[in-house]
Amino acid sequence: MATIQVRFLGSGDAFGSGGRLQTCIWIKAATSTFLVDCGASALIAMRRFGVAPNDIDLILLTHLHGDHFGGLPFFVLEAQLISKRSRPLVIVGPPGTKRRVVEAMELFFAGSTRVHRSFALDIRELTLDQPQTLGDVTVTAYRVQHPAGAPSLALRIPCARENHYLFWRYRMDRSPCVGSQRS
Ligand SMILES: [Zn+2]
Repeated sequence: MATIQVRFLGSGDAFGSGGRLQTCIWIKAATSTFLVDCGASALIAMRRFGVAPNDIDLILLTHLHGDHFGGLPFFVLEAQLISKRSRPLVIVGPPGTKRRVVEAMELFFAGSTRVHRSFALDIRELTLDQPQTLGDVTVTAYRVQHPAGAPSLALRIPCARENHYLFWRYRMDRSPCVGSQRS
């Protein structure tokens, strides 16, 4: 992966502590732009910081708590109705992501999973402990202890510098550990 840019659009917890927005981290890589997590306030954060939803190729999820994936029903609906998205959107998360995203969309906007979309919505689930390539992004997921009704993940993403990685790990929502790591 070449040089990447990282921007923390939201770094708050589930409860609005300090007035911060929920988790949503924007990353621009060589040929793709993606989010790590998409909390319920993700679209608000994107509008605030001038990030166009249509520029997002991929959304990676660390775990299936609402403050980390609750923005997806809004994001998908916005793509259809406002941004008029035409290219595929890939959502990747832990095992169980497909079912939980569909359930969340139906709960928030009944019938929204059954309408004809102008773009392909590709929801995938990560295999643990194995590097997986998504466009120009390679991610390895490791299971961590954080009950969410599905495995919670630490995500390891290679950076531009050899043997350096972005590493996301949430021990608890109130004590995220986000930073870079050397292997
Ligand atoms: Zn959580």
